[in-house]
Amino acid sequence: MAILGRAGWRVVGFWRPLGAVCRTSPRCYSVPSEHTTEKSVPYTKTLKQDDGLRGPTKALPSSADVVVIGGGSLGCQTLYHLCKMGLTNVVLLERDRLTAGTTWHTAGLLWQLRPSDTEVELLAHTRHVVSSELQAETGLDTGWIQNGGLFIASNKQRLDEYKRLMSLGKVYGIESYVLSPAETKELYPLMNVRDLYGTLYVPKDGTMDPAGTCATLSRAATARGATVVENCPVTGIQVNPDHMGVRRVRAVETAFGTIQTPCVVNCAGVWATKLGELAGVNVPLVAMHHAYVVTERIEGIQNMPNVRDHDASVYLRLQGDALSVGGYEQNPIFWDVVSDKFAFSLFDLDWNIFMQHIDGAINRVPALEKTGIKSTVCGPESFTADHKPLLGEAPEVRGFYLGCGFNSAGIFLTHTLTHSMCWYVSLFVCVCVCVYLYVCISICMC
Ligand SMILES: Cc1cc2nc3c(=O)[nH]c(=O)nc-3n(C[C@H](O)[C@H](O)[C@H](O)COP(=O)(O)OP(=O)(O)OC[C@H]3O[C@@H](n4cnc5c(N)ncnc54)[C@H](O)[C@@H]3O)c2cc1C
Repeated sequence: MAILGRAGWRVVGFWRPLGAVCRTSPRCYSVPSEHTTEKSVPYTKTLKQDDGLRGPTKALPSSADVVVIGGGSLGCQTLYHLCKMGLTNVVLLERDRLTAGTTWHTAGLLWQLRPSDTEVELLAHTRHVVSSELQAETGLDTGWIQNGGLFIASNKQRLDEYKRLMSLGKVYGIESYVLSPAETKELYPLMNVRDLYGTLYVPKDGTMDPAGTCATLSRAATARGATVVENCPVTGIQVNPDHMGVRRVRAVETAFGTIQTPCVVNCAGVWATKLGELAGVNVPLVAMHHAYVVTERIEGIQNMPNVRDHDASVYLRLQGDALSVGGYEQNPIFWDVVSDKFAFSLFDLDWNIFMQHIDGAINRVPALEKTGIKSTVCGPESFTADHKPLLGEAPEVRGFYLGCGFNSAGIFLTHTLTHSMCWYVSLFVCVCVCVYLYVCISICMC
């Protein structure tokens, strides 16, 4: 069994250096000295089941008010919000099955307090939609788990920042408490609090289940008239200049038919750049490897809050009676040539890159040092230059909207941001319909 430890992995009962473990352990996932390359992507060892389905899961309509491309977190939420705004002739096209890209393996953490009042307000709305609104509307469980969130302050400046966050939270009605090290220990007995200045505890933070949330969103949207078509890759986007010379979306092409539409929303995650190219639109994001590991059972960890240690750049997410340990690498691996065959797939974890999180995690919860690793999860995620998502209409083509580049926040920020983007999409479609009616009436009157 692989063990998290400062000097590398340990094998139960006695220490071994990393190299020796790699020769003997069945859980040696990658060669530590080399970055993972696309060749080593284990397509054949994925969770994907070949269920014999070939071709689209539904017949394609000949036209739609809006076509959403991509059935991940972003696509499903866009579809849902468009329907809630009254647009029902909306189609979502997914190349594989819903969540097949990045969404299926997300950690799904939701922290309500962020250093921006706009984000705090939006996140509160997100939490409301996932924890109660969707469930009330569909009768389905989204898989929301409310175990709370704990931010770690290991220096005075960080604690001051958290005090400011708490004040901000008060304005927006977010319950939160600054705890002393002793109070933190009471709440989280397995935590090392010797080097702590304090913590910020937000009891109503939690974790979203990606599959449950996307299934519920698509169910709610289809109940309102939307169409979800899986196993249907988009292969082309028709763009024509109008009589003013402005380039506008005309149709979306697939191998199984073409849908006439004035409006496309590109929610294709790390594939969004490729989709943009089909329409002559530049989508400035890069794909990188992003990872966490899931530990074996930890006695006493049940019901603990999720932990975010900003200084150590590490998070500990509760996963039943175990933890997921992840973070934000300073030297991430870029996925330069994004493959179209990558669905429900993962990369090998590069331990050289990931080891930077281990010290911080073990320092915070010392029990981790003797805990085995059950699995590693390393997938693609898109990042942008300013760490902000790409949302709204592309300047190059009218009717071509972007909903991508979420910088590892595509689960918790999307509800809210797609909500505002959908408003513009709805407005755009309404204007298109009005212009069309005006032209028709003018022709009739002539
Ligand atoms: C390890 C890891 C942990 C993370 N943890 C968190 C977290 O705790 N909290 C958080 O908020 N975020 C987290 N994230 C980020 C979050 O998971 C992503 O931001 C989010 O899932 C992105 O969703 P998406 O819909 O944009 O992309 P995707 O889920 O990748 O969806 C894009 C979809 O487009 C489809 N597609 C591509 N090309 C085509 C085509 N030509 N035609 C039709 N369909 C196409 C793909 O098959 C795919 O299903 C994490 C990410 C990783 C990798």
